[in-house]
Amino acid sequence: MSTTDSNIPGNLYAGGAPDASALGKLANEFFAALPGGFPASAGMNPASTGINLGAVGSLPGNAIRDVQPVGPGNQPAAGKNDVLVQHGDPVDLSHPQTALHDPHLATPGRIPESVAGSGISPSAARYKSGADRDKPIGGQPMPYSFESELQELLRAIPTSIPQGQLPHMGGAGFPGSGHASSFYFLNPVFSGGTGIPFFDVNRVRQDFPILKERVNGLPLVWLDNAATTQKPKSVIDRLSYFYEHENSNIHRAAHELAARATDAYEGARKKVQQFLNASSPNEIVFVRGSTEAINLVAQSWGEQHLRSGDEIIISWLEHHANIVPWQQLAAKKDLKLRVIPVDDDGQVILEEYAKLLGPRTKLVSFTQVSNALGTITPAKKMVEMAHQAGAKVLVDGAQAVSHMRADVQALNSDWYVFSGHKVFGPTGIGVLHGKEELLNATQPWQGGGNMISDVTFEHTKYQNAPSRFEAGTGNIADAVGLGAAIDYVNRIGIDLIGQYEHYLLEYATNLLKDIPGLRLIGTAKEKAGVLSFVLAGFRTEDVGAALSREGIAVRSGHHCAQPILRRFGVESSVRPSLALYNTCAEIDRLVDAVRRLKNR
Ligand code: PMP
Repeated sequence: MSTTDSNIPGNLYAGGAPDASALGKLANEFFAALPGGFPASAGMNPASTGINLGAVGSLPGNAIRDVQPVGPGNQPAAGKNDVLVQHGDPVDLSHPQTALHDPHLATPGRIPESVAGSGISPSAARYKSGADRDKPIGGQPMPYSFESELQELLRAIPTSIPQGQLPHMGGAGFPGSGHASSFYFLNPVFSGGTGIPFFDVNRVRQDFPILKERVNGLPLVWLDNAATTQKPKSVIDRLSYFYEHENSNIHRAAHELAARATDAYEGARKKVQQFLNASSPNEIVFVRGSTEAINLVAQSWGEQHLRSGDEIIISWLEHHANIVPWQQLAAKKDLKLRVIPVDDDGQVILEEYAKLLGPRTKLVSFTQVSNALGTITPAKKMVEMAHQAGAKVLVDGAQAVSHMRADVQALNSDWYVFSGHKVFGPTGIGVLHGKEELLNATQPWQGGGNMISDVTFEHTKYQNAPSRFEAGTGNIADAVGLGAAIDYVNRIGIDLIGQYEHYLLEYATNLLKDIPGLRLIGTAKEKAGVLSFVLAGFRTEDVGAALSREGIAVRSGHHCAQPILRRFGVESSVRPSLALYNTCAEIDRLVDAVRRLKNR
């Protein structure tokens, strides 16, 4: 954008950063120019050039509502993501810091009428449900910004940057991205020069092309994120870029493309290392996904170290991927599989776990987040308890990594696994993290190229990790794509994502639980991303099909976790599951559809 464009107030881009007062003035002019101007109830703040977000709430299309304070005295775990703008309060953009820290604005107030562009929750209003807009849900107010509206506003302004160059989220971060920069402040996470990020879900949604799909004539609502997440454009573009500019096998040639592909692949490994806070990239083994990672540990370390009579502990919450490989090994080697029970909310019972641990326990393997119920397990504590008993620990992070910070050093797990496709990356790529010494002391599970340092007909010498466990040509492009997905998550910030999703989860829980005949399966105090339920009088597949007719994708079935569903007396459930791009409006559509089905 040209800094001399006559339509742009004086200092908007002075020094390459937007000038707050100019932005405020611009926004005010825009709002004032709307048909009907500001509603009487929501005038401009006469004391400043700022805008009143109450007025914003009346914008055509209901694109934005009030913003909830997140700040001193009302601080979410994430800490510094303070956005202190409350419905009806004037916001002086010329003093962003003052506005952000105004103690009046920081007073815990109403939750937003809606975050995420949904407008007043029709479900909450219609059904007088627990999603009370006048009470903060779970004490967890939402950071929100008005960037979408500014984006709209700026779109109307003549610009010297061709449309195609408007940066999209994650546009940077790979070679040749040509990231145009003067709109940098319109990224989903925008600090406005304050260093304080806030989250704009409308902007985030623009990064995911598939969200524009229509299903049965209606906009797609993707609530099947626990099965797989959708991919941002930056990941899709990164894959194309790899095949257009870098494609080669890795590690084994002197030519230019081999170097590019190797750099890209090893660069992705470093990104995963940082994402997991692992000590070294050598601890990151690329595999197909969580399932393969668990099988790898069972068939290498388990095969090598476990003996008849040894015990493996898993939890009742496990996905089949964390049951079957251990069962197979147990049958082969005469091991005992023991299971930590859960309570009626779906929480592991630590006292019972303590009783299971003993001198025969050689391995504990459990999930950080249950895919069927959403329960977050007390993973750190469970790892500690296992180590005290002298056991090794594998943590299944498949359902955790897209919702919360993974820190394998803090967790102190011996192995940690996850799948790329559950964290906005491609399918067919996943990660086994293992402590370096442990990996190097473990026999490989597959033999072949890449994993050796020397081969004769009599003997083979193996490489150290990670090559030791990466026999043959791996999924190079998708590893690079996973790196781009991690870049994407990092750009937004996993803490902010977790905070936003928690809000959505509570919003959805409050609405769903009030539907007559609906039983939530899994009501743990600590939950992430998943709402499992059954509806009296309806088969779960019928609920799924009915929702699909309305463009809403949820999973219905046993979710590859039959034992835990049976623990709750059901064979299957309907499972909407959340990601950072879901909105309250989508939750409203889900709730409406379920209610309509129920009342038919
Ligand atoms: N563990 C958990 C908790 C899961 O949710 C899943 C996938 N649903 C898996 C393991 C297996 O992941 P993948 O199919 O990607 O190997």
